[in-house]
Amino acid sequence: MLRALDLAHGSVVLPSFMPDATQAVVRSVDSADLERCGVEAVVMNAYHLLSRPGLGVATALGGAHAMAGWSGPIITDSGGFQAYSILAEQPKLGRVTDAGFTVRRPGGSRLALSPERCVQVQWRLGADVIMCLDQCTHADDPPELQETAVARTIAWARRCRRTFDDLLAQRSADDRPRPLLFAVVQGGADLALRRRCCEALLEIGFDGYGYGGWPLDGEGNLLLDALALVRELVPATLPLHALGVGHPLSLVDAAALGYGLFDCALPTRDARRGRVYQQVSPPVAGQRDWLRMLFLTDERYIRDTAPIQDDCDCPTCTRYPRGYLHHLYRADEPTFQRLCTLHNLRFLTRLTAALR
Ligand SMILES: [Zn+2]
Repeated sequence: MLRALDLAHGSVVLPSFMPDATQAVVRSVDSADLERCGVEAVVMNAYHLLSRPGLGVATALGGAHAMAGWSGPIITDSGGFQAYSILAEQPKLGRVTDAGFTVRRPGGSRLALSPERCVQVQWRLGADVIMCLDQCTHADDPPELQETAVARTIAWARRCRRTFDDLLAQRSADDRPRPLLFAVVQGGADLALRRRCCEALLEIGFDGYGYGGWPLDGEGNLLLDALALVRELVPATLPLHALGVGHPLSLVDAAALGYGLFDCALPTRDARRGRVYQQVSPPVAGQRDWLRMLFLTDERYIRDTAPIQDDCDCPTCTRYPRGYLHHLYRADEPTFQRLCTLHNLRFLTRLTAALR
């Protein structure tokens, strides 16, 4: 099993949780905070950065790393998932064809994302890992859509590979280590489709792979069979990223299958709502009782002098009691969101360290 992933901006020890810096920032904290929490890498998003501030502004600011003051690895997601989410909720806002995605933005302008442009954008942002454009689905989507999405994902990956190879050929010899190109496996909960997609992508050949699509079924359970199949198919020497998986229970379950990279907006979103994680016993795959959720917005914490977690070394737990955090919430202070985010991020970096 792969123990570390060497990237242009540093090495990522596996397994690793990477917070989503969707708008080139992890909401409510900054890059210095991420370092204090032991975060090794972050995930940015080609679609969102293309939308705002735009590629011209981002490159004028020196690219993703310089702009965000982040010297560690950056993985950029293609934007396939964002296009999927937007079009699933508001189909009239755009469409997906063999050419790629078109989405109408607030204000009326159109944002078009083809496989070629998707790779070019991520390359110019300076990403350490570039994701191929994919067509995302939910496990409950109809079979015809799953078929189409897999066929497109494979065809788009081939085009992404070609664009990436052209860019590689144009590099000068003294450039820093090259970025890696990952392809994303789709197929919903259909194991035959997942296999077909994965085998086709392996045949094209990529530096690593992502498990894509909405990772949960209609009941909110992780699609463990599909995740396990993809891990079996991808050689153990190659990195595998469970896209959108980051709930602590899901992370432990997927890490037990052999997944090494995780990203998800949930832990930081939970934190901003005062939902903080506490580990009460060593994490065990398939079990739930090692994790406890504290809802700091609850009145029970008014006079609580304990930190969120006794043995946590995060900037929040080493300094502030739960009662103070609850007070910040009641006073509607933005620092509440920041301090809770710092704890949940540190919780995940400690969790992945414990799993190594
Ligand atoms: Zn803490």
